[in-house]
Amino acid sequence: MHRRNFLQLTALSSVVIGTGCMTDNREAKQNISAVIKPVVISTWDHGLPANAEAWKILGNNGSALDAVEAGVRITEADPKVDSVGYGGLPDRDGRVTLDAAIMDHNSRCGAVACLEHIMHPISVARLVMDKTPHWLLVGEGALQFALDNGFKKENLLTDQAKAAWEKWLEKKEYKPRINAENHDTIGMLALDNSGKLAGACTTSGLAYKMHGRVGDSPIVGGGLFVDGDVGAATATGLGESIVRIAAAHLIVELMRQRNSPEQACKLAVERLIQKNPNYKDIQVGFLAINLQGQTGAYALQKGFTYALHTPQGNQLMDAPYLVQ
Ligand code: ASP
Repeated sequence: MHRRNFLQLTALSSVVIGTGCMTDNREAKQNISAVIKPVVISTWDHGLPANAEAWKILGNNGSALDAVEAGVRITEADPKVDSVGYGGLPDRDGRVTLDAAIMDHNSRCGAVACLEHIMHPISVARLVMDKTPHWLLVGEGALQFALDNGFKKENLLTDQAKAAWEKWLEKKEYKPRINAENHDTIGMLALDNSGKLAGACTTSGLAYKMHGRVGDSPIVGGGLFVDGDVGAATATGLGESIVRIAAAHLIVELMRQRNSPEQACKLAVERLIQKNPNYKDIQVGFLAINLQGQTGAYALQKGFTYALHTPQGNQLMDAPYLVQ
């Protein structure tokens, strides 16, 4: 199905949902039947196989939380994706350091930052959420926690990523890619059959960053936010600009004010432009979902793609963008 058809479907549901106050049971039923679920949406084209994995759980009445964790693990383990997990480009010292966050319907959250040697940081983040009194563990402490809980220590620097880093060392120019086209952070949001939301976000962050740099992805409210009363949002792109507007939290709050997911993402891009005078040199992409299963995306510049899986199928979409 093409993007336009999806937009029509979304618009149709919003008309039904947007009829506002429910005056009788018949109208209440219409509202319920308008909910699209399950749904999973994720950033970039590597979202397609990740969505397919998440769908194995969602399609079997599984939970959104289990689905987003399983979904992004596919990207983390894929050596061809050079911005997430295994195969991620290293920092300037040649170290692959990973950031990840996970959040459930009740806004419970877990995250890790600057974690090395662990293939699945999202599962460590889930364990931080489920098994500790904390929400975020970083660096050595995060690694120790992972090892104590049975995760294996692995070399995540592939020959290809090492060769790219060695080439970078020749000039040592730090220029974050403004649009990584097919390879960037994976952020995933899902609504399950029981009407529960969850989100996950995982990345190796910006290539050739300073050692110890942490982006927006593991920062709750920055790269990911879920509020079961409203919806969920995730971000990709230059973390330093995304945190300036607490983007994911902002998008959820904009949806709380009755903006559609797409409109909320667009307003957040506008806010980001206001706060980042260098906006022409950067790229960000936002995704959002609400409790009706409506989804939306918006980017700063051309080139942001995302994968949307509804009961009608899984496909790649081009996000609308603001700067021509
Ligand atoms: N948002 C990520 C970071 O700043 C990178 C990206 O999505 O491109 O670490």
